Amino acid sequence: MPLHLISEAPVPDVAAGVNPGSKQLIDRLSADGRLPVGDFETLLSSPSDEDRAYARDRAAAVAQRQFGNRVFVRGLIEFSSHCRKDCLYCGIRRSNRDAERYRLSPDEILACCAEGYRLGYRTFVLQSGEDGWFTTEVVTDIVRRIRAAYPDCAITLSIGERSTAAYQQFFDAGADRFLLRHETADSEHYARLHTAGQTLESRLACLSDLKRIGFQTGAGFMVGSPFQTVHHLAKDLVYLSELRPHMVGIGPFLPHHRTPFGDQPAGSVDLTLFILSLVRLMLPTVLLPATTALGVARTGGREAGIQAGANVVMLNLSPSEQRPKYLLYDNKPVSGEVFEMTDAVRRSLARIGYDVVVDRGDHPKEIR
Ligand code: SAH
Repeated sequence: MPLHLISEAPVPDVAAGVNPGSKQLIDRLSADGRLPVGDFETLLSSPSDEDRAYARDRAAAVAQRQFGNRVFVRGLIEFSSHCRKDCLYCGIRRSNRDAERYRLSPDEILACCAEGYRLGYRTFVLQSGEDGWFTTEVVTDIVRRIRAAYPDCAITLSIGERSTAAYQQFFDAGADRFLLRHETADSEHYARLHTAGQTLESRLACLSDLKRIGFQTGAGFMVGSPFQTVHHLAKDLVYLSELRPHMVGIGPFLPHHRTPFGDQPAGSVDLTLFILSLVRLMLPTVLLPATTALGVARTGGREAGIQAGANVVMLNLSPSEQRPKYLLYDNKPVSGEVFEMTDAVRRSLARIGYDVVVDRGDHPKEIR
């Protein structure tokens, strides 16, 4: 059943308390760090408000135990909107002829880092479409320059699928982390979200390469992507329990009007929050962002994500004149000075008892 057809209303006979079956599964997930796919399906099928509140409170306690009230901030630099891939959900897909394309020069990328550093950022996340202009050599050179200029900062790449040799070269040049969401762990679902030539198999091969090379590695997926079922989400969680990545990016699917999924409904914020809590319970030390998409889907979504167990926020360091050209989905925020946005997030998290810290925010330890 597509997720948007699943009622979010509490199930009446458990409204008074947590469903004992759900509680048992949440406790077991927390104790064992995994669940069979069928148990995840049961948990995800129709969680009541109380089930979600139970998972949230347990997950927030785990995050508190691991990280205290500290939230890590990342400076996102969207350095190219050119993309050779054609992901059906994404606003900068190759077939979107209306998308304006830009690329930042290496000097402009370094200038974004300089501004971020001044504002207290100690992780730079370089993200882009799959842009052939940025060859292995060009990316390596950029990583080397950032590494030399900011020895106390972490460098994260989010630039899609590359060869094993290229990944190795980026790592050797000083990149620390790599984000590559798996998007969905079901190959048929993967095929419905992408075009011919894009396979789950190659995505997962990249993820295992990245992890083997030694990157702090991030996988993840959208909640409520078209055709997604509870079974797919259960497989996503099982996959995460097996990969045991250092980072997990999860946000609601949001439609972009110039894509084939432009008229599809957005993913559920409540379900996204519930899944964030389950991931925190399953991988206690994981670096888990409250994503931009979560903040776009609901006012206060980012703060709710932190309260559900997330411990990272990513803010946009890209030059403001280019931000309107990196629209993965509709209503993505494009205005605002970095200084003001940073301050606003710091203050809104302080209101709920969290401190944005000046720190690389590495993964606490290698996960088994
Ligand atoms: N080219 C890079 C970066 C992709 S953009 C790569 O392949 O990894 C980062 C993430 O944004 C994607 O992995 C996807 O999960 C998410 N995203 C893309 N379009 C979206 C949409 N319409 N709604 C919500 N998230 C989206």
